[in-house]
Amino acid sequence: MTSLPLLIELCYIFSAVLFISGIKMLSSPMTARRGNLISSIGMLIAIAATLGKSGLHFKFIIIGIVAGTVIGIVTAKTVAMTSMPEMVALLNGSGGIASLLVGWAEFHSKITTHSGPILLAIVLTVTIGGITFSGSLVAFGKLSEKLPGKPILLPGQNVFNVILAAAIIIIGFMFCFSNSFTAHYQLFISIIIIALALGILGVIPIGGADMPVVISLLNSYSGLAACAAGFVILNKVLIVSGALVGASGIILTSIMCKAMNRSLSNVLFSGFGSGTTKAKNKDSQGDVKPINTNDAFLVLEAASSVVITPGYGMAVAQAQHVVNELGNLLEENGCEVRYAIHPVAGRMPGHMNVLLAEANVSYDLLAEPDDVNPVMESIDVCIVIGANDVVNPSARDDTSSPIYGMPIINVDKAKTVFVLKRSMASGFAGIENPLFFGENTRMLFGDAKASVSALAAKFKG
Ligand code: NDP
Repeated sequence: MTSLPLLIELCYIFSAVLFISGIKMLSSPMTARRGNLISSIGMLIAIAATLGKSGLHFKFIIIGIVAGTVIGIVTAKTVAMTSMPEMVALLNGSGGIASLLVGWAEFHSKITTHSGPILLAIVLTVTIGGITFSGSLVAFGKLSEKLPGKPILLPGQNVFNVILAAAIIIIGFMFCFSNSFTAHYQLFISIIIIALALGILGVIPIGGADMPVVISLLNSYSGLAACAAGFVILNKVLIVSGALVGASGIILTSIMCKAMNRSLSNVLFSGFGSGTTKAKNKDSQGDVKPINTNDAFLVLEAASSVVITPGYGMAVAQAQHVVNELGNLLEENGCEVRYAIHPVAGRMPGHMNVLLAEANVSYDLLAEPDDVNPVMESIDVCIVIGANDVVNPSARDDTSSPIYGMPIINVDKAKTVFVLKRSMASGFAGIENPLFFGENTRMLFGDAKASVSALAAKFKG
């Protein structure tokens, strides 16, 4: 091996080491930022090494880099924090379509010279890439509420999806063993069309509370598509990085399934919530008891233990900084404060952790549901800030509820619960929440940032 190819291979190995170290650091909030930086450096080295290869068309590469940089900078500057989940869905989709295009380009450039294994890798690349792309677009539509969040499960849809998957496998084999270019081309286009349809039909029946699993799974698929693309163009660093994303996405998917107490097959095929969810008669639930900030302050001033439970509404209100301020003021007042984070709170995995880290909430104060639930009855006040589905007691108590069985944060067991939200509207799953009618619940209506700021102002006198 001459010195340049050897140097490129060494750079790839070094990049792979940086990716693995970076991912390892993501396992703790303390090291996550450094992990991101290290992985980014690994990617920079991998790209620089790839550009050192011979036979590249720099005109197209420069156009791609300039277009990608402009789009990246503009979106990073303009996308609101509240739109990050949709952005993540789009980024997953971009990974999928990028891999599909790699497969497409390889198919057209060297179809006559490719061997069976490479053809198989091309099939896998365009199939997983296509499913990831169209599935992510549907996820984007649901998260941005441009598409109805409610699952759409047509009669026989699961069977139809299985038939489509089987069709891809059969056509894929025909593709690998065909000798004619025309037949190859028709089979190739059929695979792409079926994969795109499968992505749409696979995500449309999933809705409400199950979306976190889908986001994680699509993230994993985008990695697997890149990994397959790595086999197509025989690029080791793409194989390694794709496999890492694919594997970490699968781990995240399993964490999300566990957080919801569901199996993956149940999430993918049950069409959760597609039936009509009969809301309980309001009268049978009791009355709502509103509270104002003056009275809420008096209760909090006397509290010796408070659990703050944030949800998607905290992200919408961008209340994380004032929430941290209120937490600090409570502590200064002699109160023990903890933040209970549900794994699926918000609209993307780790959403609440990211926001609270941005506001400098100490990591030691963050607790998981399993940490706080056993002691909830001894907590004086639980402040629910824009959370709804993740604190819905019907998931625990009502066997007829579509989210029955999903572990929740048992805020209703605290001595007093303050729910900060703007109205009686339901959460992402579209289910009424009996917590709001609880004997010990007080509703503090209004924008979460305004309500928390008002409470903090009272503490500051
Ligand atoms: P929910 O979506 O259940 O509820 C959020 C609540 O916030 C709403 O009821 C809303 O009520 C309130 N809210 C919105 N804006 C404000 C504001 N400015 N001030 C105060 N309150 C506000 O959120 P949760 O975090 O409890 O649950 C997350 C849901 O999203 C789950 O169903 C989860 O499965 C799903 N999901 C999660 C993903 C993830 O990866 N974490 C991904 C996709 C979906 P109101 O309008 O009355 O103010």
